[in-house]
Amino acid sequence: MASDTCDLLIVGAGINGAGIARDAALRGLDVVVCERGDIAGATSSASTKLIHGGLRYLEQGAFALVRESLREREVLGRIAAHLVRPQRFIVPHTGERPPWLLALGLTFYDWLAGNSTLPRSERLAHGSPPLGKLRRPVPGAHAYYDLQVDDARLTLTNLLDAQALGARVLTRCALRQVVAVPRGWRCLLGGRGGEHEIMARCVVNVAGPWMPEVEALRGAQSPTRLRLVQGTHIIVPRLHDGDDAWLLQQADRRVVFAIPWGERFHLVGTTETELTSTGALGVTAAERSYLLGTLTRVFDVAVGEADIRHEFCGMRPLIGGTGSARTASREYRVNLKQDAQGRGWMSVQGGKLTTYRRLAETAVDRLSGLFGNSNACTTAQRPLPGSDGMSAGGRVELTRRLALRWPGIAADWLHALTARHGAVAERLVKEAVDEGGPGRDFGGGLHEAEVRWCARHEWAREADDVLWRRTRCGLEMTAVQRAEFSAWWNSQRTA
Ligand SMILES: Cc1cc2nc3c(=O)[nH]c(=O)nc-3n(C[C@H](O)[C@H](O)[C@H](O)COP(=O)(O)OP(=O)(O)OC[C@H]3O[C@@H](n4cnc5c(N)ncnc54)[C@H](O)[C@@H]3O)c2cc1C
Repeated sequence: MASDTCDLLIVGAGINGAGIARDAALRGLDVVVCERGDIAGATSSASTKLIHGGLRYLEQGAFALVRESLREREVLGRIAAHLVRPQRFIVPHTGERPPWLLALGLTFYDWLAGNSTLPRSERLAHGSPPLGKLRRPVPGAHAYYDLQVDDARLTLTNLLDAQALGARVLTRCALRQVVAVPRGWRCLLGGRGGEHEIMARCVVNVAGPWMPEVEALRGAQSPTRLRLVQGTHIIVPRLHDGDDAWLLQQADRRVVFAIPWGERFHLVGTTETELTSTGALGVTAAERSYLLGTLTRVFDVAVGEADIRHEFCGMRPLIGGTGSARTASREYRVNLKQDAQGRGWMSVQGGKLTTYRRLAETAVDRLSGLFGNSNACTTAQRPLPGSDGMSAGGRVELTRRLALRWPGIAADWLHALTARHGAVAERLVKEAVDEGGPGRDFGGGLHEAEVRWCARHEWAREADDVLWRRTRCGLEMTAVQRAEFSAWWNSQRTA
């Protein structure tokens, strides 16, 4: 069994664990991350994929959360430039909220966003072009902007940076046992990633919905009650042409998003289904019919179960409350317990993808006392790997440069690689060319050279890691192509 020591053992490689690992490593702490499945294998790849203030949280009076989120939207637009893109949302006036209320909310949203690089909201008159896509005429609409993000790659990219700064990342490796020892914790980790014993000064429990289970390993209870709320998304063929996304108001005051996803699909979600345990996670027939029903009510399209190309669900571990899940807080809590022997245990609850960097900053600030570390947080200034020079047309310029350097490589592939890997695509293509070219074409834009890259440099261990999280090529492939790829992947592992 491998044995090791560290300052921080971070349990969970979702966005929050990845963000804390990056921040702590950047401030000079010795970090190990353990993840029992794949990086972003749980909630952090099952989100609506928005970096947003959350217009609907204004209705709940969560102004501080919305303001913090909108500030983070600007920061992520800068440091994760290759993974985010501006997205316009249309909110048709369908009667659930009066147009004056929407106008007021959006004016406030713009104001909270301060000096944003995104355009401000606007009112669209009856008959404006995007409204022609709707089944029934509406008197008007509002339009506003947020950012769309690849949630799984955002998580991965934080860990790539953490690793470049010295952090060790163990995937398929769960925390199984914790024993208090003088000045720290003896932690036993295991799984397909091997058995490890780690002596850690502080454990950071950032296991999301499984946080109470990790607390239980040291005989403690979760500091506050978590409510588990499932959210489901479906992916269907494009409902219409054009690049606008929709925020569709529901009679129950919830909202459903329909967002263009790649060139050929719409991502539609989400639902809010209370769960009694983590084991109950799974898309239900009622959720499918709720989302499909919304689409057929609003758009002039016939879309049914057979049109669902992909579906996924995640769990929000919301903090407390007994009312509707819609109104439960999306804020986060960071608790640090430190004892006289210098042992630390941190538990993280709640949060949003959008605010992960601030959550990490708060967490590592709190740890400064434990480690006597006064280094300031610099994660807002340091670009994530691949995003250097990627804003304002940088990606187009990079793709053009790669095409000039390697004229024999298909432009489509270069375009896809720069979208996923940003500036790192140049190293990937060089490695591919040095080893004989893009290699086998698995369909859906996936080539052997990129698969090799994901396995060598991005901790991909299973076929699904590549199909659904390192790339989204699984969506573009047929079921037969996916099965062929999985068979090839397994044959490589056993060869
Ligand atoms: C349906 C839905 C839509 C959402 N949409 C958005 C959105 O558009 N924008 C936004 O800002 N936020 C959104 N969110 C919120 C956001 O996705 C979450 O806040 C975020 O992903 C939580 O990340 P996390 O790291 O805390 O948890 P997770 O991503 O769940 O990660 C926890 C990890 O811990 C691991 N783990 C558990 N136990 C162990 C153990 N014993 N040992 C090792 N590892 C362990 C798990 O395998 C898991 O990978 C959405 C959430 C949901 C559910």
